[in-house]
Amino acid sequence: TKKILLNSRPKGKPQTSDFKFETEKVAEPKDGEVLLETKYVSVDPYLRGRMSDAPSYIPPFEIGKPIASAIIAEVVESKTDKFQKGDHVNGLLSWKEFQVASADNLMKVDKDKAPLSAYLGILGMTGLTAYLGLTEIGKPKKGETLLVSGAAGAVGSTVGQIGKILGLRVVGIAGTDEKVKMIQDEFGFDEGINYNTTENMKEAIKKACPDGVDVYFDNVGGDISDAVLFNINKFSRTVVCGAISVYNETSLPQSASVQPFLIKKSSLMQGFVISDFSDKHPEGIKQLTQWLKEDKLTYTETVREGFENIPQAFLDLFDGKNKGKMVVKI
Ligand code: NDP
Repeated sequence: TKKILLNSRPKGKPQTSDFKFETEKVAEPKDGEVLLETKYVSVDPYLRGRMSDAPSYIPPFEIGKPIASAIIAEVVESKTDKFQKGDHVNGLLSWKEFQVASADNLMKVDKDKAPLSAYLGILGMTGLTAYLGLTEIGKPKKGETLLVSGAAGAVGSTVGQIGKILGLRVVGIAGTDEKVKMIQDEFGFDEGINYNTTENMKEAIKKACPDGVDVYFDNVGGDISDAVLFNINKFSRTVVCGAISVYNETSLPQSASVQPFLIKKSSLMQGFVISDFSDKHPEGIKQLTQWLKEDKLTYTETVREGFENIPQAFLDLFDGKNKGKMVVKI
């Protein structure tokens, strides 16, 4: 079976040469284990952090060892009562076509309730990040203005829709005109800003958010988020979810000094990782499932095909080549 290993720690932007393809013999499952065939692989910006060895909330990948991410797989052989042949499971698994895994860390998913890939996005980490980040930290109130960066991506497009469900005015920032149109036409954002064609982001945000920004859901950090600071309202909340614009920087960029802005506006800025809210995950999935069923929530995906295309799909996240959740179908 084929597998993908970390070949070298990227310097700056990751390259295809940072990954290495190898083959191995498929092992036999022992008691309590299953043999799995990979069906859908999630590629996520946070994997960039695990490719470097800087201390973080999650240990780094090891050179010469397989990369791992959220994967939907089919059970091919089972040595546990928990799963049967033909079941589909979701787990943090290695980038391998086939692998043996312990049943303990796998969750069964039902392909009759939602398409399999949805469990990597809207009904997985992405959906939970959007919902719990926005509600637990953003504490949105009806009538407020919500600004979302990375708005056409997996998390951002969900955050914006939840903002609309909760009765906020929602403005999104994304990298192309096509994405700006998509967030308005397909996801109901009230307005959008293309940061690549806008010269003065500070002014553009002011214009798109005439009443100021009450909740800023930040997926990108960097210059975009600096420009937002000039537009935050008294008692505003910034949900620091991601900082993709700086993940590939070799030294941390000079950013605006946030303290004067936060003091002047009695404003809160809080980072999080989705595991902080693990006790609320079941409730989150329930709510997201219900909104999907009621057609209040929708999602889009960029689906790449083929095991050999996993690294490129990951690299393309940093060039904004995805709309919604990026997944690879095997
Ligand atoms: P996305 O689907 O949003 O994909 C990444 C997008 O980021 C691209 O499509 C691109 O869109 C945008 N982007 C890339 N480079 C830049 C740049 N230099 N400046 C501005 N935008 C850029 O990914 P996810 O929805 O999976 O993740 C979004 C963010 O949330 C990430 O930062 C991720 O790390 C974070 N995250 C955090 C979690 C947590 O627990 N805190 C959990 C999950 C995700 P465009 O064309 O608009 O530039």
